[in-house]
Amino acid sequence: HLPMVALIGRPNVGKSTLFNRLIKRRVSITHDMAGVTRDSIFSEVRGETRTYMLIDTGGLVPDSSDEIEISIFDQAREAMAGADLILFIVDGRTGLHPQDEQVGQYLRQSGKEVRVLVNKVDGPEQEETLAADFYSLGFPLQCVSASHGFGMGDLREMIETAL
Ligand code: GDP
Ligand code: MG
Repeated sequence: HLPMVALIGRPNVGKSTLFNRLIKRRVSITHDMAGVTRDSIFSEVRGETRTYMLIDTGGLVPDSSDEIEISIFDQAREAMAGADLILFIVDGRTGLHPQDEQVGQYLRQSGKEVRVLVNKVDGPEQEETLAADFYSLGFPLQCVSASHGFGMGDLREMIETAL
């Protein structure tokens, strides 16, 4: 079967924007509002050296912060179970969130292959300041801008090298 690569992370960090950019089509719905409910979306990605299945995890429930929290862990757990590589997306603009730390702890215990993607780094000059917060998560880290395209070449290489 194809290797599975799962995008996980808090609502509104840019998972779907990144998914659309990696698959080069607009399948996944992106939204300014946090916690738009939707099912996970799968798409095959043919890279330079590897073909893999990319999963945009969704299904986050708005209104209750508790439910969002539960849903993030359900999402993380579900994606983890089947994934060969987990792309843990965080928001460089908002900085490290307590939920990021919780998910990070969970992922460290899983022993799975994980990469942190610091998204919304819209240019190379922002890289150092925006990334600084996230090294503490303890995973290899890459800065990207899903909406502007910054760092996508390095990201594609990072994914295919990990598979
Ligand atoms: P998701 O909930 O994690 O799937 O996040 P979305 O992909 O729906 O994006 C949430 C919001 O963040 C949208 O308004 C996007 O336009 C915005 N966004 C996503 N990626 C970037 C980025 O790289 N830079 C900036 N500035 N905004 C972004
Ligand atoms: Mg989304």
